[in-house]
Amino acid sequence: MDKMIVVEKITKHYEQVEALSNISLTINKGELFGLVGPDGAGKSTLFRILATLLLPDKGKAWINGVDVVKHYKKIRSSIGYMPGRFSLYQDLSVEENLNFYASVFGTTLEENYALIEDIYRYLLPFKERKAGKLSGGMKQKLALCCALIHAPSILFLDEPTTGVDPTSRQEFWETLSKLKEKGMTILVSTPYMDEAVLCDRIALMQEGQLMKVDTPQQIIDQFDKALWKVSAKNMYGLLKDMRLSPLVEQCYTFGQYLHFTFVQEELDALVAYLKQKGHQEIEIAPTAVTIEDCYLQLTDV
Ligand code: ADP
Ligand code: MG
Repeated sequence: MDKMIVVEKITKHYEQVEALSNISLTINKGELFGLVGPDGAGKSTLFRILATLLLPDKGKAWINGVDVVKHYKKIRSSIGYMPGRFSLYQDLSVEENLNFYASVFGTTLEENYALIEDIYRYLLPFKERKAGKLSGGMKQKLALCCALIHAPSILFLDEPTTGVDPTSRQEFWETLSKLKEKGMTILVSTPYMDEAVLCDRIALMQEGQLMKVDTPQQIIDQFDKALWKVSAKNMYGLLKDMRLSPLVEQCYTFGQYLHFTFVQEELDALVAYLKQKGHQEIEIAPTAVTIEDCYLQLTDV
């Protein structure tokens, strides 16, 4: 498989903070690859280095065989970078933003219209509107158009769906899979674990480290324990008591339930213990493993 992005032992500090710690990663041509992790994981730092806006302290990276430090000018025309929420000119209209980004790269809206058409048609009714006055979902669509307007072969999308409503998030991911079908290589970051399964492969990140790099399914398959869910009337007390039980290995809040693993699977003993602690309306059942469970197991909360 053709390698599109190669990151080799990259480290980056901001004074005392180690934002990236000896990161190595390879992303193949045509892959939809996700960097998944919470605030502070180092996602934006990695994007800035790959987008040639920041220098690593140590290590190297190549995009399509081109060194990101030595040949940064060459790289800038081949990548589209959507740096999160602040990339648009709020006082310019939708159309003006697009024309501006096109002109920076020496192209025009007309020249690459076919590339953005699918996304831009949602924006057409608002093309005179100032970017600052658009909804979150529309801003995100415009930012994607701006990142695509110079026909890049790689897209870097830093938390494109953060703070966007669920319908727009879903539409956005559908757009990404269409771009992928056209052969685009996409590196996207997200703090939302449910979006991880929409990627070909993901890297689970925490505090500057890659804890796991694999397909979402492989990561789920590697979860080596039976996973259970439990609820009761007093959820706060339940979490406390579950964590105190020697039968329970790991237990954390997950939606309206707690998810947990056993040290040894002794269901009756656990139920007796919870009853003895005064819990009511106890419901326990096996449950399917999600990427979020894998993440929590790896970070061992
Ligand atoms: P993410 O995008 O995953 O939230 P970042 O790459 O923004 O992660 O940040 C990684 C770490 O580096 C965090 O601890 C953050 O506080 C720190 N950091 C990021 N940018 C700067 C900066 N310009 N100056 C100092 N610390 C920074
Ligand atoms: Mg970030």
